[in-house]
Amino acid sequence: MTGTLAERWRAARPKPAGIHLDSGACSRQGFAAIDAAAQHARHEAEVGGYVAVEAATPVLDAGRAAVAALTGLAATDVVFTTGSNHALDLLLRSWDGDRSVACLVGEYGPNLAIMAANGFQVSPLPVDTTGRLHVDAAAEELARDRPALVHLTPLGSHRGLAQPLGPFAEVCRDLGLPLVVDAAQALGHLDCAVAPDAIYASSRKWLAGPRGVGVLAVRPEFAERLRPGFPPSEPAAPLTVLQQLEHGESNAAARVGFSVAIGEHLAAGVQQVRTRLAEVGRLTRAAMADVPGWRVVEPVDEPTAITTLEPTDGADPHRVRAWLIAERRIVTTACDARRAPRELTVPVLRLSPHVDVTADELGQAAAALAEAARL
Ligand SMILES: *Cc1c(COP(=O)(O)O)cnc(C)c1O
Repeated sequence: MTGTLAERWRAARPKPAGIHLDSGACSRQGFAAIDAAAQHARHEAEVGGYVAVEAATPVLDAGRAAVAALTGLAATDVVFTTGSNHALDLLLRSWDGDRSVACLVGEYGPNLAIMAANGFQVSPLPVDTTGRLHVDAAAEELARDRPALVHLTPLGSHRGLAQPLGPFAEVCRDLGLPLVVDAAQALGHLDCAVAPDAIYASSRKWLAGPRGVGVLAVRPEFAERLRPGFPPSEPAAPLTVLQQLEHGESNAAARVGFSVAIGEHLAAGVQQVRTRLAEVGRLTRAAMADVPGWRVVEPVDEPTAITTLEPTDGADPHRVRAWLIAERRIVTTACDARRAPRELTVPVLRLSPHVDVTADELGQAAAALAEAARL
């Protein structure tokens, strides 16, 4: 296929029915991933689900290898999950050490709930006024007051701020503290190849795979410190920790679709996608800068494609989101404060276009938002 990355990405999937600015929630899948999943479902009907999944081993292994390439871990360290929350819950539930974890003040709300549900004491990592991790101050605090685990979400759901994952991973390594990374928004978006102790992500966001799939990658030394309670590893039929983590019924067709989608991401060029997403973020923030009634939260040059708009004149992001879909076929996200309960004070409207967004679409979205402000 010829053309720019944006043109190729758009040509590789069904036409959007409107303007899709919602990759942070769920990107649009490509034909190849959709067809591979459908083909697998057919194969299940022909030969049986358990035979079909064996035949799909090479494509699933390729999916694991692609996750390994993006995280700096090995393909054998990767298991499939049903999503990011599922992965974090699996990990924390199985953790055999002290139940204390340090994370950002702006940590994703459901992650905080999973930490609490698993009995973890949470301590905040130091940040600046924008919510960006202060790496040197964090290094000092972590050396003084060592938590059992450190958790970092390099790109949040509620704000398009890129956290300094690389330098922070080095700090944690130097201190000998296990680092767990929530890459739900970061995988396929920012550089995550820092070989952390554990890292997890979702298929449907920036990697544009199907819904209901996720991945968890765990370093072997870290896996040794996990004790999954189920299924039991019987002496007669011992299971590895990874086999225990991956146990259970799963949608194999969706895993196949994800493996194809992440393969396409690698083929498109990881660096090219990253550069284009950073450009898309700049273009989006520039297009929204003068829309009355809203303030762009991120610095214009922040290298991510997530832009959040805070209402300055009392607009309700949930109502505006619904109006944009119903009246303009523009899909965005309304993020309420529960997404980051310790950082977000008012709901924001999130725009998260993928690489294929056009200047014309961003202009239409800005015009529609200006109109929505007058509702
Ligand atoms: C979406 C998201 C999650 C949860 O992912 P699921 O696949 O829905 O479980 C976790 N963390 C962040 C930062 C997210 O954006």
